[in-house]
Amino acid sequence: MKLMKCLLIENDCYKAGAGMKPRGVMVHSTGVNNPNLRRYVQPVAGQENYDGLIAALGKNSNGNHWNRHIDDPNKRKCVHAFIGKLADGSIATVQTLPWEMQAWHCYYGPNGSGNATHIAFEICEDNLDDPVYFRSVYKEAVEFTAYLCKLYGLDPLADGVVICHKEGARRGIASTHSDVENWFPRMGCSMDGFRQDVKDLMTEQKEEEGMKTYDTVSQIRAEASWAAPTIEKLCMANALRGGSEAKDAEGYPADLHLSEDALRILVINDRMGLYSK
Ligand SMILES: [Zn+2]
Repeated sequence: MKLMKCLLIENDCYKAGAGMKPRGVMVHSTGVNNPNLRRYVQPVAGQENYDGLIAALGKNSNGNHWNRHIDDPNKRKCVHAFIGKLADGSIATVQTLPWEMQAWHCYYGPNGSGNATHIAFEICEDNLDDPVYFRSVYKEAVEFTAYLCKLYGLDPLADGVVICHKEGARRGIASTHSDVENWFPRMGCSMDGFRQDVKDLMTEQKEEEGMKTYDTVSQIRAEASWAAPTIEKLCMANALRGGSEAKDAEGYPADLHLSEDALRILVINDRMGLYSK
């Protein structure tokens, strides 16, 4: 992932500046054949790092970017980030709003508005027929979504957390747009696959960092069965209580948050008889 920042400080949404606690991520695509970030993202004169951003993004000479006031309140919109092409043709993500500011990206539906809950990004569409471009922006979107989920402790596979605009419409929290289902299926992809890819990447990253944790007895039985008898024993003795009051169906703590190293040490101690009465 290549993450840059060019806040849309003149956008009416940025100026409204409503706060939000992110509880999900909504994926959009622009619906227009223009893969260039400069179509949407530009710094305004005097903005921090103006020259550097123009050099990276390229100059939009048409004045139709989103870093400006729009007179018609019905046409005002904004997202937290765009994914598309830089001036040199490489793919990047540009943050355009603070993550904890509400974006005006999905309007609303009968059940409310994803604007109040979801961080939103647009993938710049091309003509929807180029698998090379698609693969590169898809990969960037997976990495970016994983980054956001990690930042806010979100589970990408949990219901309603990572959704596209069309799925938001189905859930009654967005206007009836078709993105990204106008594009992903044409390239053999789906939002279910996207969510799984985000989850897999997060798991991979955790393992690389040695940060993988085991949170429940059932997970330990499945993925580290060698430690299960020790952990069950310690839970039943109320020596292991987890990080919260949450319990699983068997009454074990559901928030154990044990690293593999912790499991090893507990098992070694158990073998040495430290937990025998
Ligand atoms: Zn959309």
